[in-house]
Amino acid sequence: MIAQVVPVLFAFGSNLGGRGDTIRAAQRELAATEGIANFTASPLRETVALTLAGPDPLAPKYVNGVAVADTTLGPHALLDVMQRLEHEFGRVRGERWADRTLDIDLILFGGRVISDERLTVPHPRAHERDFVLAPWLALDPNAVLMGHGRVAELLERIGDTTAPFAEEPAPAQSDTGHTGANDGGS
Ligand code: ATP
Ligand code: MG
Ligand code: MG
Repeated sequence: MIAQVVPVLFAFGSNLGGRGDTIRAAQRELAATEGIANFTASPLRETVALTLAGPDPLAPKYVNGVAVADTTLGPHALLDVMQRLEHEFGRVRGERWADRTLDIDLILFGGRVISDERLTVPHPRAHERDFVLAPWLALDPNAVLMGHGRVAELLERIGDTTAPFAEEPAPAQSDTGHTGANDGGS
């Protein structure tokens, strides 16, 4: 039997450590995971931390982004991969919505509605989160959130408090292993 290919949407967040680098590194690992293909990540945005007490301007700011992909994994196998990556990148589970090195949430799993002890999909709070909607809109101006409508309209309704997050350009890759500085002379 050929496994079904399902389009999925992930959301990423980090407010401790190397934030943007952590998200990009975790995304590279997800993209390279067997059963995940066509991985495309959004630009990153920076946002004031949302804590149990509401937005906290004194807490370290979050970097957030989303990514789409196609997968042949089931939703729970995918959650296993996501949680393994959170752990690998130093996530320590404390109080709900506490500061963290990496959060990966599953926003959509195709058109499936899932509600069990491990997974609620579509993610029940995505529609009210500018830090999910804004990067998603940047990736796909026509995005639609199942059950809530057009992302552009949702974001306009709640307001966008996110700001662009400037990433360091990746260092130029050399496949010779030489640094380049003293490579001349031939
Ligand atoms: P929020 O879901 O409000 O963004 P959070 O991401 O901080 O909160 P976590 O501590 O990362 O929450 O996860 C708590 C639990 O949520 C996980 O153990 C996981 O089983 C469960 N969970 C339920 N639905 C989802 C989902 N769609 N994506 C990721 N985890 C989910
Ligand atoms: Mg989350
Ligand atoms: Mg989470």
